[in-house]
Amino acid sequence: MSKNDTVRIFDAASKSYKDVARIVKTDKEWQEILTPQQYDILREHGTEAAFCGLPTKGHKHGIYQCAGCGTDLFKVGEKFESGTGWPSFWDPIDPANVAYTEDNSYGMIRVEVHCARCQGHLGHVFDDGPPPTGKRYCINSYALKFIEDK
Ligand SMILES: [Zn+2]
Repeated sequence: MSKNDTVRIFDAASKSYKDVARIVKTDKEWQEILTPQQYDILREHGTEAAFCGLPTKGHKHGIYQCAGCGTDLFKVGEKFESGTGWPSFWDPIDPANVAYTEDNSYGMIRVEVHCARCQGHLGHVFDDGPPPTGKRYCINSYALKFIEDK
């Protein structure tokens, strides 16, 4: 396997970094494993309507993983109520687990957040978040799956 086929991500369960294979699938393969809502967001860069996603309130201890490939992305403890209707976080679980691209759609310059392993679209990051980072990761709930701590 060449270096380009792997990506180093942080694994929350073992609290260590590991090199894992990138996930590359055809659109058809993604359609087979994702729900229509997940596919629209992760693969087609869709955005769910505010307040219309999965409930993400009331989670006390656990992490949110990529709904496409299971990469650990965000922690409950770094989530805050932004009032926007989308799950909002002030930091990813580790900088290695997300990737960024500039998104110039809709006449706005926004920074798009992707899963580092499968390149799935998660949402956008803005500079109006709370301390300590001042960042607001505005993430589609359908791009996430919640894993409760055992
Ligand atoms: Zn992923």
